[in-house]
Amino acid sequence: MIIIMKTGASQKQIEDVEKYLQGLGFNTHPIYGEVKTVVGAVGDKRLAKTENIIHMEGVENIVPIMSPYKLVGRELIHENSIVDAGGVPIGGKELVVMAGPCAVEDEEQLMEVAEKIKETGAKILRGGAFKPRTSPYSFQGLEEEGLKLLAKVGKATGLKIVTEVVDTRDVELVSQYVDILQVGARSMQNFKLLSECGKSDKPVLLKRGLSATIEEWLMAAEYILSAGNPNVILCERGIRTFETATRNTLDINAIPVAKELTHLPIIVDPSHATGNWRWVDAVSKASIAAGADGLMIEVHPDPSHAASDGQQSLKPEKFAQLMKALKPIAQAVDREI
Ligand code: PEP
Ligand code: MN
Repeated sequence: MIIIMKTGASQKQIEDVEKYLQGLGFNTHPIYGEVKTVVGAVGDKRLAKTENIIHMEGVENIVPIMSPYKLVGRELIHENSIVDAGGVPIGGKELVVMAGPCAVEDEEQLMEVAEKIKETGAKILRGGAFKPRTSPYSFQGLEEEGLKLLAKVGKATGLKIVTEVVDTRDVELVSQYVDILQVGARSMQNFKLLSECGKSDKPVLLKRGLSATIEEWLMAAEYILSAGNPNVILCERGIRTFETATRNTLDINAIPVAKELTHLPIIVDPSHATGNWRWVDAVSKASIAAGADGLMIEVHPDPSHAASDGQQSLKPEKFAQLMKALKPIAQAVDREI
C-alpha cells in the first residue's frame, strides 16, 4: 500500500509511520516528492491493522497497490527511473550501448574489442566470465581470471563492466570486479540468486527468461527490489516461439508494454534475440525506434574463432557502422546516442 503524507508532514511524522509499519512486518520505502512524501509499504497486509495508520499524525490517505509487482510497477514510482551504472546513467535521454564478446577469452581479445567499441561511443563493456552453456561440454568461461581481465580492461579504457553471475555464492565476488551484475535468461527465476543480487550495491541487468511472460519477468525484478536493490535494468533478449529461422523471437511488444507497466529502464539484446549477426542491425534499429533505453550487442574481433556465439557477433567495423546508423533513429524518437 501507499501512505500519502500531508503536504508539509514533518520528518518525524514520516519516520513514525515507517516505524509503525515496520513493527507490523512491512518493508517501507519513503519517496520524497517536491510537494508531498509518500511511503510505500510492502508486506502481508492480512497480518496488519493498517486501518489505524489513517489516524497517525501527518497521514492524508492510504491507497492499496493493486499490481503484484509493487516496487517495480508505476503505482508507487511514476517517473522513469534512471539507474546509475558506475557513473553512466541508464534510462535517461541518452541511450546506452553495452558491447563486447559473448565470453572473455584472453586479455588481447578483450582489450581490442574494448578499444574499438569505445571509439564508437559505447560506454559499457560486456563479457562473460561465468558461462552457463546449454551443453556441459561447451566452454564454461574463465571465471575469476575473466573477472580480473574485465576489471583491468575497464580500468584501462574507462568503460564500465557488465558480466553475468550464475551462482548465489559468487555475487559478492563478482560485485567486487564489475559495475553491473547480469542475471541471465536461464537464471531469471532463480529466486535465491535474485534475492542475493538484491543485497548487492551494484545495479542488476535482468534478462527475460526464454519462456517468461512479461509479468513473470517483472515479478523476478520485484525479488531484487524487495531485497533492497532499486537499481534494476530489464533486458529483452528474445523468447521461445514456434519460429526456428532465428535463435529466439524478439518480443518488440515487450518494450512499450514494460515501459507502461514499470518505471525501470529496458534495453534489448539483438544478438541473442536473432542468433545471427546479419539481423542484428535491423533489430537494433527497431528496438530503439520502439523506445528501448539501450542495447547489448555481442562484438568479437574474429567471430569465426570465437569461443562462443561467434555466429551472432558483429565484427568491430560492422558495430561502428551500426552505431552511426542509430543516430538518426535515436533523434527521431527524441533520444541521443
Ligand atoms: C549472454 O548475454 O551472454 C547470455 C548468455 O545471454 P542470455 O542469458 O540472454 O542467453
Ligand atoms: Mn552469448
